[in-house]
Amino acid sequence: MDVRIDHVRKEFGRFAALDDTSLTIHDGELVALLGPSGSGKTTLLRVLAGLERPSAGRILFGDQDAASLSVQERNIGFVFQHYALFKHMTVLDNVAFGLSVCPARRRPPRAEIAARARRLLALVQIDGLDRRYPDQLSGGQRQRVALARALATDPRVLLLDEPFGALDARVRKDLRHWLRGFHDRTGHTTVFVTHDQDEALELADRVVVMNAGRVEQVADPDTLYDRPASPFVFAFIGDSS
Ligand code: ADP
Repeated sequence: MDVRIDHVRKEFGRFAALDDTSLTIHDGELVALLGPSGSGKTTLLRVLAGLERPSAGRILFGDQDAASLSVQERNIGFVFQHYALFKHMTVLDNVAFGLSVCPARRRPPRAEIAARARRLLALVQIDGLDRRYPDQLSGGQRQRVALARALATDPRVLLLDEPFGALDARVRKDLRHWLRGFHDRTGHTTVFVTHDQDEALELADRVVVMNAGRVEQVADPDTLYDRPASPFVFAFIGDSS
């Protein structure tokens, strides 16, 4: 199922964080939202997830207008910046929480929740840490717990806000590589936010370059290098070399 962002505008007071943004995310692809700080990347993720309502325009999941769906019915997996794990809960309970907020018809019976949470932790390759608390984990491990929690509802789209931002260079590289492999294995439609050109160009199938609340260009990494659509893209992508 494709997700279509159709002429979306998002205002905060008199300021437009998103200004007439249109974009289609294809089923199963890995998309990077790339742009400088303040260009509207996080706002676009939040509008997609239903955490913010567009001031104008619409979001379509296939043929369905997202405005008619509750946040639960949209079923978007969201990994927040800095993970946003519950500190007072164990790793297992953090992931089980994700399962407990599934829409009723997909929610597993209580007795099955722990086993399902363990399977999700195995999927993100951090089994064995279920009884730890977030403070006892490394940054990379926390990020994987956040991912397991986001995957708990078997979301239609997985959204990651600066997933590597808080990690040191080596862990960042490992997790980047792992995420690409994970995506290739599982095929989840995934959109991640970054302000790092290298990350976007190395990892994504397609890159959406944003500037001041607008989409400057959507293209695969090679096309962005070879045929930047605007002086902004040329300067921004050129920066990384
Ligand atoms: P990015 O993720 O690209 O750094 P954001 O989407 O976070 O950009 O923000 C885009 C612009 O919208 C910024 O100027 C930011 O200050 C503003 N903004 C975002 N959220 C709010 C809000 N809740 N209230 C007011 N302004 C906001």
